[in-house]
Amino acid sequence: MLHLPQTLGESLNAFVRQGYPRETCGLLLGVRLGDEHVVSRVRRAHNVNIERAEDRYELDPDDFLSADREARAAGLDIVGIWHSHPDHPARPSATDRDGAWPGWSYLIISVGREGVGEIRSWRLNGGDFEEEEIRT
Ligand SMILES: [Zn+2]
Repeated sequence: MLHLPQTLGESLNAFVRQGYPRETCGLLLGVRLGDEHVVSRVRRAHNVNIERAEDRYELDPDDFLSADREARAAGLDIVGIWHSHPDHPARPSATDRDGAWPGWSYLIISVGREGVGEIRSWRLNGGDFEEEEIRT
């Protein structure tokens, strides 16, 4: 389960709308409580995949490191990654799966010209993604 407080969800909605029609991405900081990821901060990262920024993302390693440093200093962990799917459903692509790490939440936010659509979260189980429940 992914616990995402409503205010953080609203921040993510604003990020992905600002970024549209490009894919935007970033990190979820929080704590792991058993199988549950409790998010307490969201951070935006640059998408360094310039060529296919409309349908691919690649987290800027510097943004990753600074989020990791911030998390450690606050006694938190990076518990997952969020990214947007402009004009596509919030389901992980094969590329998302190939680049995913076990034990992390992959939050996907569908966004279109009209605004934000569905928001869904996924975790690897074996080689495949499985949807996890999101609670606010
Ligand atoms: Zn994706």
